[in-house]
Amino acid sequence: MEPASGIAHGLIERLGRSSRLVVLTGSGVSSESGIPTFRGEEGLWRQHRAEDLATWEAFERDPELVWNWYDYRRRIIADAEPNRGHKAIVRLEGDFDDFTLVTQNVDGLHERAGSVGPVELHGNIWRARCTKEHTIVDLLENPLSPIPPKCAQCGALLRPDVVWFGEPLPMEAYELSHQAASTCDAMLLVGPSAVVRPAASLPLVAKHNGAFVVEVNPNYTHISALIEATLIGKAGVVLPKLVDALLDRRSGMRSRSDRQDTGAENEVKEQTAS
Ligand code: NAD
Repeated sequence: MEPASGIAHGLIERLGRSSRLVVLTGSGVSSESGIPTFRGEEGLWRQHRAEDLATWEAFERDPELVWNWYDYRRRIIADAEPNRGHKAIVRLEGDFDDFTLVTQNVDGLHERAGSVGPVELHGNIWRARCTKEHTIVDLLENPLSPIPPKCAQCGALLRPDVVWFGEPLPMEAYELSHQAASTCDAMLLVGPSAVVRPAASLPLVAKHNGAFVVEVNPNYTHISALIEATLIGKAGVVLPKLVDALLDRRSGMRSRSDRQDTGAENEVKEQTAS
């Protein structure tokens, strides 16, 4: 029988049985909050492709242009609200003892939705880094003035504290996410295109170690053929249904196991009494 969520019973069953869950999100999870993905139709800004702006070379060539693009993105993010997809992930986090949220996003919407300590693989757009001393500072002023911003201590240019194309990931975030991917028994991918490396390799690490990997995306991705299932649809539509069905299933499993425990306890008591 088709379950009410429209999601296959076997998939809910398998995810429900898992005890160590990793959720990996990409820009798709924030697109229903009005924040453009890089490769979607809205991704172009003043005729520039994100790939040509989010690089150290672009920043060296024209820091004002790059900071204007970040200022534009920060304004959109400041006006955005977490959506039903972000909120569904918070409910999942509350139900699993061993849960890790890893995000490629820099917008901070997971934390605003209520997620606790997501592992930010690509940094955060509300922080900046001194290009000379490498110190990291909060940069919350919105809109920014002046552009480009300078370090208050030494006067050197600040850069956004985000990972640009061709740069390594922050070591601690990468290690945490790699560790979580290697030891989880299920992974849910929500809206990464699975082309941005090395984050794109995390589902493969999970798969290699025997985890059950499922993605939620309106489109098939580069790794769809390699994982257990693709739930086609928008995160804000599919995730709440998936999480409802999953939490129902897990609460049913918990009450069954409680009943069994109580039954076993009574048996012990009866034996003791005889
Ligand atoms: P991407 O643009 O390459 O791919 C986005 C993916 O999201 C695609 O697979 C698309 O099909 C999917 N998608 C679109 N709408 C969706 C929805 N409603 N629900 C679920 N999935 C949806 O982005 P990427 O793979 O995340 O890589 C680009 C990098 O750029 C990111 O890692 C991040 O660092 C940065 N970025 C961040 C933000 C943000 O913080 N919100 C926005 C744009 C880009």
